[in-house]
Amino acid sequence: MSLTIVQKYGGTSVGDTTKIKNVANRIKSYYEAGKNVAVVVSAMGHTTDELVSLADQITDNPPKREMDMLLSTGEQVSVALLAMALESIGVPAVSFTGSQIKMMTDGNHSNAKIDSIDRTRIDKAFESKRVAIIAGFQGIDKEENITTLGRGGSDTTAVAIAAALGADECEIYTDVNGVYTTDPNKVPGAKMHKQITYEEMLELASLGAGVLHSRSVEMAMNYGVTIHVRSSFHREPGTLVVSEDKIMEKMKVSGVTVKSDQARITIPNVKDQPGIAAKLFSALSAKDVIVDVIVQSSPHDGINTISFTTAKKDVITAKPILEDIKKDMTSGEIEIDDSIAILSAVGVGMKSHVGVAAKMFQSLADAGINILMISTSEIKISCVIPQSKAQDGLKAIHSAFGLDQI
Ligand code: ASP
Ligand code: MG
Repeated sequence: MSLTIVQKYGGTSVGDTTKIKNVANRIKSYYEAGKNVAVVVSAMGHTTDELVSLADQITDNPPKREMDMLLSTGEQVSVALLAMALESIGVPAVSFTGSQIKMMTDGNHSNAKIDSIDRTRIDKAFESKRVAIIAGFQGIDKEENITTLGRGGSDTTAVAIAAALGADECEIYTDVNGVYTTDPNKVPGAKMHKQITYEEMLELASLGAGVLHSRSVEMAMNYGVTIHVRSSFHREPGTLVVSEDKIMEKMKVSGVTVKSDQARITIPNVKDQPGIAAKLFSALSAKDVIVDVIVQSSPHDGINTISFTTAKKDVITAKPILEDIKKDMTSGEIEIDDSIAILSAVGVGMKSHVGVAAKMFQSLADAGINILMISTSEIKISCVIPQSKAQDGLKAIHSAFGLDQI
């Protein structure tokens, strides 16, 4: 075990002063075991949301620089309180803002990327036997403007610190026990994984299993940092997020998810000629409409059909764009079905096993669920189904892949 440990505590783990004291006690046990402890913390509870709403009360369009200045204050409160809590139980500690440890980022306010970290002050803290407490989610750009890493970005701060310090594990403490095979609130038989791969975690996070900030997983994968997702409310171990070669028995499917509140837009009678899809999807992306599944039928008599899915809330933005370019694309009527869901199965074992897609389709057929669209990638199969069948579909594929028995 390496001597240096990096821990990150999320907003719910430091939600009030009692919880902050509990966190301090947990840190104390690692400190007393002789470890160098670097701790990254998020803002308390819903602080960041409250700060956002303060800005909303002032203006619809706050300057991005000032927004970052505002949002970064939440983390500054929690690092100071945690350092005080540690000192009060006899553990020397020192808190740092992002700028104090030269967490250098690009200047992309509200979604900045980390360029480098200067570990000098953290090392000095360790040399003087102090716990280093670091504000998550924030950095500074070359002009010393405060930046933030995007909502949920404290996970990324923690992994970046672990990489900079050469720690082999980064513990992410949260309000769930670990990473599950699916959402336990939706499927009671959901089981917790002991291990999962970075790739699977990335797919599961982007599918809405929202445990970790996606960029933290990408960074951990690039730097070989093991992430340990675990609960701050008890001492049981959680889930290790590791590279594929560390997992002996690769699961065909390790997680299933459902994304609700989606819409399917279908454009019939599209002329089969170069540039049509480019025009459609560039126009949508120019207005930040996020498109997920896309299916184009094979051409027949020089025409085909293009269908795609997007979040229901984006339909209002998509509609005028579609109206605008409709005449260049089709003579038909655009159809919008705003009651669909996207069901997905994810697993690295799919790369080497056949029959995974067939099994998913069969289990949906057995449950009487009609598949509207299908899309696949190396480690993911997604089916668009009616929204009303979302829950049933999730349960059906969860048990078809034996996930309630792992
Ligand atoms: N406090 C920030 C947020 O709420 C960062 C984080 O919690 O990771 O998004
Ligand atoms: Mg989070």
